[in-house]
Amino acid sequence: MVRLVQVKNRRVHVDILISGAGPVGLTCALLLRNLGVSVAVLEGREGTIRAPQAHVVSSRSLEILTEAGIPETVLREQASPFSEIPAVRWVDSLTGLQHGCFEFINAERAERIIAATPTPIANISQSRLEPLLLAGARKAGAEVFFGHRWQGTEEQPDGSLISVAATQEGEVDFISSFLLACDGASSDIRHHLGIEMIGPELVQSFVGIHFKADLTPLLAHRPGLLFEFVGGSASGFFICHRAASDWVFMHPYDSSSRSRQWFTEERVRGLLREAIGADVPLEISSVAPWRMSSQVADRYREKSIFLLGDAAHRFPPTGGIGMNTGIGDAHNLCWKLGMVLRGKANAALLDTYEDERKPVAVTNARQSLKNYHKMAAIEEALTQGGDVQKEIDAQPEHFDMLGLDLGYRYRSAAIRGDDTPDAIVKNVVTDVPRSLIPGYRLPHAWLPREDGRSSTLGLVRSNEFVLLTGAEGDVWKDVPVPWCAEASQELFERLGDLSPRAAILVRPDGHIAWVAHEVPEDPAAVIRNVIQEICHPPSANRTP
Ligand SMILES: Cc1cc2nc3c(=O)[nH]c(=O)nc-3n(C[C@H](O)[C@H](O)[C@H](O)COP(=O)(O)OP(=O)(O)OC[C@H]3O[C@@H](n4cnc5c(N)ncnc54)[C@H](O)[C@@H]3O)c2cc1C
Repeated sequence: MVRLVQVKNRRVHVDILISGAGPVGLTCALLLRNLGVSVAVLEGREGTIRAPQAHVVSSRSLEILTEAGIPETVLREQASPFSEIPAVRWVDSLTGLQHGCFEFINAERAERIIAATPTPIANISQSRLEPLLLAGARKAGAEVFFGHRWQGTEEQPDGSLISVAATQEGEVDFISSFLLACDGASSDIRHHLGIEMIGPELVQSFVGIHFKADLTPLLAHRPGLLFEFVGGSASGFFICHRAASDWVFMHPYDSSSRSRQWFTEERVRGLLREAIGADVPLEISSVAPWRMSSQVADRYREKSIFLLGDAAHRFPPTGGIGMNTGIGDAHNLCWKLGMVLRGKANAALLDTYEDERKPVAVTNARQSLKNYHKMAAIEEALTQGGDVQKEIDAQPEHFDMLGLDLGYRYRSAAIRGDDTPDAIVKNVVTDVPRSLIPGYRLPHAWLPREDGRSSTLGLVRSNEFVLLTGAEGDVWKDVPVPWCAEASQELFERLGDLSPRAAILVRPDGHIAWVAHEVPEDPAAVIRNVIQEICHPPSANRTP
């Protein structure tokens, strides 16, 4: 496939090899280990610590990670306190005049979020999230090899893959059934497979400056997550990772006329001084160029190799959904791989990964780019004395993408009844459909418990299908999957307008696979047949 691998030194045998221990690779490792699959993760770096990038961890990502066993309390301990990050502000400089502001929480938005998810969005810096994912994956039994750089993979005559990783001590070989490319935006694996990225490769060049400073004294009167400003030589935006210690300043520049070398420590300090509007003590941790693209891979699969996360798609950060989309990729693919490895599905099920996830990435890339371009209207108002607040109020979608996070619908051979019409919502970006339609995520609703309450999402089984039935669910009792009538009142009566004898089949990733509006003559045979069809779709040309 890539190059002939010379077998030397050690050989490691695993079911699945993952290249890249970023948030997506580590999520895959955790999910796969939970399914009993053996995994090894290669990571070129020596550890997880680096400059923070992502910080918005979406509701869906939190649902996935908590279900995978990382306690919500542990995740929230690492989140920025909301009092530090209540708004996005458009300013002359960090300490200068404020021209407009977007407050994250208002009563309507809070109500909408709480109704849609048990785990509302949090702000957790990637540099704080990755160690949690690493600890979770290792606790579950994943082997993570830092200082191991993927070099090449070749298919062996029996269909297994042999991959070689370079280390300081020499090469190590890994034998696996599958390889997951979670190796980021400049994915070596994607390049070697010759998979093209579709969409604009360079929307804007930025230099990302990570610095340590305590800016709380300057911002006590107006804390914020993002501070955006234009004009002057130091335009850009600040991201507050921790107001008292951790900041990133993203500064746009023209990479055709200016190189990374231009950004000397002295110039970077000058930029920060101008952008902050004050001379404060600070320590520069890193200065790294970053190309903002809006692209999705042409293909997500080459035989037994899959692209996930930034290797498959890269978006402008305007919306904060790059990593979150990648965590969704992992959640979609891992249960399918688990089923195939356990012999419960054929390899054609894996084709539905691209069928389901690529449209999500295309939508998210488009919306992130739209958000970026719409920022121009605010910037124009800022520089030309227009009504900045009016322009901010005209684009609430930029900072509120709950609908895209929780409301996407899958259509593929792994969904039965995907030809039914979509749920109707006012705004697909912000609003979450709460309906029982095949392809959508099972809606969240609280179920009463003796010791409190639990979400309907807790009824999902990560390694098997589950049948949720109505109040007269007994008619389904002989089906060959776990079934449960607990959710009937909340889901069937309030949301689904379904008869008490109806049933919904939910996949291991929490998406509705099929809805039975009536009880068939032989419920067990019908369920067996539906699951068989989902797990053994006809082989498309893409599958070897
Ligand atoms: C300023 C900024 C803000 C952002 N904010 C958000 C946000 O708020 N929310 C959000 O969802 N997203 C955000 N993003 C995007 C987010 O950072 C990425 O989408 C995310 O990091 C992608 O995760 P990943 O695991 O796919 O790839 P990466 O995080 O890039 O990880 C890939 C890993 O693979 C390793 N690797 C590469 N090549 C090899 C090799 N040959 N062998 C072994 N290892 C290799 C790399 O060292 C790296 O550790 C932001 C991005 C930027 C720049």
